[in-house]
Amino acid sequence: MSLEALINASRRYGRDPHLVLLGGGNTSYKEGNILYVKASGHALGSIDEGGFVRMDRSKLEAIWNRTFSSDDAKREAEVLHMMMASRLEGETARPSVEALLHALLPFTYVVHLHPALVNGLTCAVEGAKYTRKLFPEALWIELVKPGFILADAVRKALTPLRNVPNLIVLQNHGIFVGGESLKEIDGLYRHVLSTLRANLERDVDERPVAVDSTILDPIRKELRTLFAGEVAYFHTNDTKSFLSGEKSFHPISSSFTPDHIVYSGFKPLFVPKGGSITEAFEAFGKKHGQNPKVVCVQDAGVFADGEKPLALFIDTVRVSVYSESFGGPLFMTDEVIEFIRNWEVEQYRSKVTT
Ligand SMILES: [Zn+2]
Repeated sequence: MSLEALINASRRYGRDPHLVLLGGGNTSYKEGNILYVKASGHALGSIDEGGFVRMDRSKLEAIWNRTFSSDDAKREAEVLHMMMASRLEGETARPSVEALLHALLPFTYVVHLHPALVNGLTCAVEGAKYTRKLFPEALWIELVKPGFILADAVRKALTPLRNVPNLIVLQNHGIFVGGESLKEIDGLYRHVLSTLRANLERDVDERPVAVDSTILDPIRKELRTLFAGEVAYFHTNDTKSFLSGEKSFHPISSSFTPDHIVYSGFKPLFVPKGGSITEAFEAFGKKHGQNPKVVCVQDAGVFADGEKPLALFIDTVRVSVYSESFGGPLFMTDEVIEFIRNWEVEQYRSKVTT
């Protein structure tokens, strides 16, 4: 039972592609009044002691006695200031924005991840209903703005409960699993993943689809100029059916979770067959104040501004397919998407991780 055990488990989770994408998620360990929590911008798969921040649990607890501004930007700045001030002396790293949530849970160990299979449930129209049915012991938290507001929603939901559940399922986000040992947490993750898998109506189909180079090469060339860099590419049986028309594209046309926004942009651009990619790309940039990171071309495939945006978009496709088994896909609301697009925390995160 130690930080070392948490580091080993964090690496193990971080290296499992079914559980962690691009190092996302975070872990923590409590010892007396100290919370060890992952620092922002560290990948779980390669984390070491330097990737954890030591925080004073009573100072974190005192944050709940404060009243914060109702203005989003002001409130987030005030909370960040208090979080930074809750670090033990000598700590310089910035704690994960989810540190407040880790601190709230009374478990020795907490492992928070965003696996595609779990998000098939959290990003589904009937996610709450299926969570009650499949995991009656879990607490479901509806979509709210991430960061302080989310931690506050969990705190309020826990108040009337006699026992704090080991599983907290967050709509359009992921899952928090707490336990007194890492073995207990491993068992809970196995239970969650195998239960979800057993309830899938259909699995993803990532067999590659070949497209003729006479179609692909000109698109690649055009996008190399627009992205001003290398173009990452992906096309499978799943994307083939999603990219067959404007209507079939809808289930992958927006953002499921904060990570998707940070890495692959708040939404992809869809270009119908024969349409001008450059015109559509420039119109997107003008309308939204940022260029698309992912461009889906009908019957040709998924093109991305680098491997990271592509990896997160592949995750979008997986989440969408899995969500079909739980009532169909449900994106974040426009209000939450806008909040995340403007959120300093995510701007910081995308800077340190790229
Ligand atoms: Zn998270």
